Amino acid sequence: MAKSVEERVLGLIRGEKLVRKGDKVMVAVSGGKDSSTAAWILAKHAEELGIEVALLHLDQGIPTYSKNTRKKVEELAKELEVPLYVHEWEKEWGNGLPYIVGKIGKASCYICGILKRYYQNVIPKALGYNVVATGHNLDDSVGFIINNLITGQIEYIAKLAPVLPETELTPRKIKPLFWIQEWEIRKYAEENGVPFAPCQCPFQTLAPTYKIRRAFDDVEKARPGTRKSFVKNVMRLAQKAGVRADRTKPNACKYCGAPTSGRVCAVCRMKKKVGIELGPVKIQEENWIGI
Ligand code: AMP
Ligand code: ZN
Repeated sequence: MAKSVEERVLGLIRGEKLVRKGDKVMVAVSGGKDSSTAAWILAKHAEELGIEVALLHLDQGIPTYSKNTRKKVEELAKELEVPLYVHEWEKEWGNGLPYIVGKIGKASCYICGILKRYYQNVIPKALGYNVVATGHNLDDSVGFIINNLITGQIEYIAKLAPVLPETELTPRKIKPLFWIQEWEIRKYAEENGVPFAPCQCPFQTLAPTYKIRRAFDDVEKARPGTRKSFVKNVMRLAQKAGVRADRTKPNACKYCGAPTSGRVCAVCRMKKKVGIELGPVKIQEENWIGI
């Protein structure tokens, strides 16, 4: 019989050593089905894996969408009995994502992507967690590969892995759903009663990878297993061809300490443009809900 989603996820976690005993894992949860499922499986097996689990939610201040997703994340934390930290962009930036986008004048998904990656690095570090888990799935990897082939950022493909090691400036990054397709996750979440918000980010269809991901639906239907073999073989190809991610050691941003190739990180440069105070991330203590 085919292995269940949960068995495959736990197989990857153990097989590729995504976590070790004693790890403190923050799961970055958007309120959607993928990251909520990743949190669900990690939290349900925390004891046997010997890890501590908490949730991190970034409240982007997008009207309606952010309120709905935050509510679901709060429900998830209660159900799993794990601590939850919510970082409100409105509190730090004076207003939500649409305002920041207006001030910076670049595409919303571009800015949101930079901010999400930033907080997923600095917040777990600031709260004493050494691992950050995301809900990235197999469909995401297909979109990531093709998008980078189109834009020519081939070296990024070398970074595609279910686990990226911890560094001085960043937590270990793990993707427990790396080999699971989106439709399988939806089915698992529905069958197991995982709380998740059915709505998508209102900007989602603007994301460059959206159409690429959907274009694979037909191919997968005609030839089941296409996504998995595509990702697996591109990873093999990249390794064989010696594709390397940028190995230069990042510097610590002189204002906030986050990793950057220059002296000032992209987020501090954005803050300068918006005209807000620079410095290390300020934890919003009132939004750190322990159990
Ligand atoms: P995305 O960049 O939207 O494809 O999301 C990739 C991963 O980032 C998700 O699977 C989540 O783990 C995480 N993530 C996305 N949005 C949020 C959010 N608002 N708060 C916390 N984590 C998020
Ligand atoms: Zn900075």
